[in-house]
Amino acid sequence: MVYSPNEERYETMIYDRVGCSGLKLPAISLGLWHNFGGVDTFENGREMIRKSFDLGITHFDLANNYGPPPGSAEEMFGQVLAKDLKPFRDELVISSKAGYKMWPGPYGDWGSRKYLIASLDQSLKRMGLDYVDIFYSHRPDPDTPLEETMMALDQIVRSGKALYIGVSNYPADKTAEAVKILKELGTPLLIHQPRYSLLDRWIENGLQDVLEENGVGSIAFTPLAQGMLTSKYLNGIPEDSRAASPTGFLKESAITPEVLRKIRALNQMAAARGQSLAQFALAWVLRGGRVTSALIGASRASQIEENVAALHNLEFSEEELNRIERILKT
Ligand code: NDP
Repeated sequence: MVYSPNEERYETMIYDRVGCSGLKLPAISLGLWHNFGGVDTFENGREMIRKSFDLGITHFDLANNYGPPPGSAEEMFGQVLAKDLKPFRDELVISSKAGYKMWPGPYGDWGSRKYLIASLDQSLKRMGLDYVDIFYSHRPDPDTPLEETMMALDQIVRSGKALYIGVSNYPADKTAEAVKILKELGTPLLIHQPRYSLLDRWIENGLQDVLEENGVGSIAFTPLAQGMLTSKYLNGIPEDSRAASPTGFLKESAITPEVLRKIRALNQMAAARGQSLAQFALAWVLRGGRVTSALIGASRASQIEENVAALHNLEFSEEELNRIERILKT
């Protein structure tokens, strides 16, 4: 049957400007790192993408290496575009990245101009697109001059293969340098994609200040700490969870008694607010407007529905915030 999206999809989602650019992103975006690869069920991934769009999620985040196998998430997304979303291309913000190992030899990894440009060409082919909306340098390269990586991003925008550019996993000082180089080149840095959640707050120590000072937006990845900030691990490791999956990046060993203690206490706070822990964790990431979008993953459509409902309650009292600090310090 021909897909016809929910006509009310733009009525409840929140859209915020990315830094001081003209682009807006939804408060919740969907990433295709896990559960959209060649090893996964196509129809489940397709349902999640359609459900997201129906809920007003206009932004889908990919990378060259998402799968497994690497490249297969982009192929899968290309098929869903062709089947369902092609008529809505101008309502979508699609991103991809290059920076991790993608093909053998010296040109399939890190941050050279050679790798970034070849990789984006491959990504466009896999997705069946003429351009992506955002293209990222996926991680800083200690050996390639930052100027070269940034010049490649600038060239990618000028050649029309991406509309905007971003960096991911760059520390505060490298981000500040990248901002400066890109300003000189005339292609501003749109966005930074860092890891950020209640369990990992490194961006609060400098990076967020650099982004704010320079009008750069941010999209927080793994805001649920890969599922740890949900109620699913409170009573053991469910068989259908990422921690139990042979292809999952989350290892059982990450769910320590110390983490569980925090999760239990946060779960109680969430319940008192009438939220699930997942909703509470997403609301916390978005508190105060310092993060433009929370970039979630999902293994089923119902999780996306639950997570988007976090937007019904994004406010935290001073007392709640202080209590969270105390819980995280224990
Ligand atoms: P999350 O922290 O949102 O974890 C998602 C996982 O949590 C889901 O796959 C699911 O796992 C579980 N989950 C989600 N919602 C619920 C819910 N309501 N109830 C119970 N469990 C839930 O993010 P990801 O780790 O998936 O990362 C999100 C995106 O961030 C990626 O797809 C990618 O786009 C980006 N990313 C970027 C990186 C970078 O270097 N730039 C690195 C990593 C991610 P389960 O299978 O257990 O159900």
